[in-house]
Amino acid sequence: MKNKVMIITGAAMGLGYAASEELAKKGAHLVMVDYNEESLNKAAADIQKQFSDVEILTVVADVSNEKAVENYVNKAVEKFGRIDGLYNNAGIEGKQASITEYDVSIFKKVIDINLMGVYYGLRYVLPVMQKQNYGRIVNVASVGGIRGVLNQMPYVASKHAVSGMTKNAALEYGKYGILTNAIAPGAILTPMVAEAFKQVNPDNPKAAEEQYAKHNPTRALGNPKDVAKLVAFLISDENGYVSGQTIAIDGGESNMY
Ligand code: NAD
Repeated sequence: MKNKVMIITGAAMGLGYAASEELAKKGAHLVMVDYNEESLNKAAADIQKQFSDVEILTVVADVSNEKAVENYVNKAVEKFGRIDGLYNNAGIEGKQASITEYDVSIFKKVIDINLMGVYYGLRYVLPVMQKQNYGRIVNVASVGGIRGVLNQMPYVASKHAVSGMTKNAALEYGKYGILTNAIAPGAILTPMVAEAFKQVNPDNPKAAEEQYAKHNPTRALGNPKDVAKLVAFLISDENGYVSGQTIAIDGGESNMY
């Protein structure tokens, strides 16, 4: 991993931050992308303080804006001359509502960020990796990318799409030494999931969290650091032949009936 160049989207918090930290620990240089400028700068400063040898470029971008994605890719190439890995992670949950009650503008926003944002990342990073004849991409799907989730139809649609795009990228670009995979996290305790528990039980989100954890075979929610370790494997040379897969990291929950 030493001196490899890794782009991480949604890097300011949650899974993106945990992966940035893990990749920096292994010696990679980082291009940290997020639309929350203040949190992004704080996250980059925290990581720089821990790992003074790595170089960090921050780029403020909304991944649902194609020009902004083109810009983060250009900035990465200008500074580092190459891109070894893309962690296509930025995403939102949207609101929880039944199909007929879902606000259409929020539906479109979820698709714009979770589906189009991942697509734009692929569209602009793949040509750089193709020229290098090397690359590793990890797209973030969800257990909602392999199963239905009550009251989250746009999220489920967008994450199934991420899994599909992952298969296509693997098929079309494998011949250029590019391996593309998706991960499908279950409930990992990040700010996004904390917000979901608030929606389920506004008066007592902790009770909603405990109730949810009871259904997991491990009786616990996941830790962002565990997800970061899986990402670090898939996005590195350690991964020599895994491609086109959507790998669940959920304590085994998605196998339950
Ligand atoms: P989070 O809300 O804790 O962090 C997401 C980060 O992405 C934030 O820093 C936010 O500012 C950034 N972001 C959101 N939309 C963006 C955009 N349009 N452009 C740029 N940055 C943007 O969320 P998280 O839990 O870390 O989730 C990260 C990814 O993992 C998402 O794609 C999410 O769907 C997926 N996921 C998370 C879980 C989980 O349990 N936490 C489970 C399955 C999938």
